[in-house]
Amino acid sequence: MKEYQKLKQAKEYLEDYIRSNGMRMTPVRLSILEAVFAFDTPYTIDQMKEYLDEVYPVARETIFNNLELFFRIGIVLKRPIGSGAVEYETCFETQTRHHLVCKMCGQIFEFRDASIEQYLSEKRYRKFKMSNCSVTIYGLCSRCQNKIKRERRKKQKQMEVKNQTDNKRKSQK
Ligand SMILES: [Zn+2]
Repeated sequence: MKEYQKLKQAKEYLEDYIRSNGMRMTPVRLSILEAVFAFDTPYTIDQMKEYLDEVYPVARETIFNNLELFFRIGIVLKRPIGSGAVEYETCFETQTRHHLVCKMCGQIFEFRDASIEQYLSEKRYRKFKMSNCSVTIYGLCSRCQNKIKRERRKKQKQMEVKNQTDNKRKSQK
């Protein structure tokens, strides 16, 4: 994929995330995202700051906060490099999508979570080298959860009505 296409996709993805989480897409956030795609090797926060100082100076803390956000939503990977320092690496294009599968209706929802890849990449498997991973989580979608709740409430109501009539009958006897 061409660099600008990757950036365009990442931008759309980030905008969707930001909008649905009531955050704002600021020029600062955008320039940090652009900087993330300017690196083709891993980088530390200091290296990112050095790069940004040339084009769009940003406070170190802001860089940190945004890289952490990008990490959480799967645009960058993060790994420790000793003495408490970490380096980041852009991973958007190789990012594996994970899936949430509803056991009732079968609907599949895609999601990204870099922390899953990070956790698994640190694992060692005998006679096996992992290249990437995909996690499937089974459960119930919100529609099915609500449907179950409604059905339960309905059944409970029916039981209550039945008990009431039973009681009435008993007291009439
Ligand atoms: Zn469902």
